[in-house]
Amino acid sequence: MSAIQSRLNAVRQRIRQAEQTYRREAGSVQLLAVSKTRPAEDIRQAVAAGQRCFGESYIQEALDKIGQLRDLGLEWHFIGRIQGNKTRAIAENFDWVHSIDTLRQIRRLNDQRPARLAPLKICLQIKIDDEESKSGISPGEVRGLIEAMPEYPRLALQGLMTLPAPAAQLDAQRLPFRRLRQLRDELATAGLPLTTLSMGMTDDLEAAIAEGATLVRIGTAIFGPRDYSGQT
Ligand SMILES: *Cc1c(COP(=O)(O)O)cnc(C)c1O
Repeated sequence: MSAIQSRLNAVRQRIRQAEQTYRREAGSVQLLAVSKTRPAEDIRQAVAAGQRCFGESYIQEALDKIGQLRDLGLEWHFIGRIQGNKTRAIAENFDWVHSIDTLRQIRRLNDQRPARLAPLKICLQIKIDDEESKSGISPGEVRGLIEAMPEYPRLALQGLMTLPAPAAQLDAQRLPFRRLRQLRDELATAGLPLTTLSMGMTDDLEAAIAEGATLVRIGTAIFGPRDYSGQT
């Protein structure tokens, strides 16, 4: 078994264990393998171990790999910062986008999603711990955006995503995730139910699962440490 395959199994085990510990239904947390900066060959190894969904953050690199792996029929999730001139490439090549934080991105992706493809699945990225520099929609603005979604039929809103500042302790890690879940619950009470909570990475996946994550985005624990030197 390759290193990637055995690490992938270890991550699956962590997820299963956390589901048990926090009384989540078995199989209720989906694993997105974050393959940014990793070569197509690494993705092939994860695919050989049964992984089908991959997350990418850099558009040019992602397009290269999507092209190389076209024959495998994988599901591609865009999780990086969305630059205005890159929305068409995203709309034409991805199945999901997790990192939407402006109405302008919503409009453009809706206009640019090809008719031959299913509606693009999206999550709204929420700025949950109001850190100044981070991207994301503030919780107070999210309701208006969701209510506008019927105007954008080429997009299918799935849920909320967050990327909190790193914290060392489990309790501190759980706090922003709990706030995202509470926001999801408030929206459901207001008649705006959403199924996906995209939260949790290598260092905080247990905290995210404890607070209700339905999808965790895991890179390092599967593929090893990233090397950004080749990244432009
Ligand atoms: C890189 C990245 C991840 C994966 O992080 P790891 O700590 O390597 O698991 C998850 N989500 C987003 C948005 C990322 O950019």
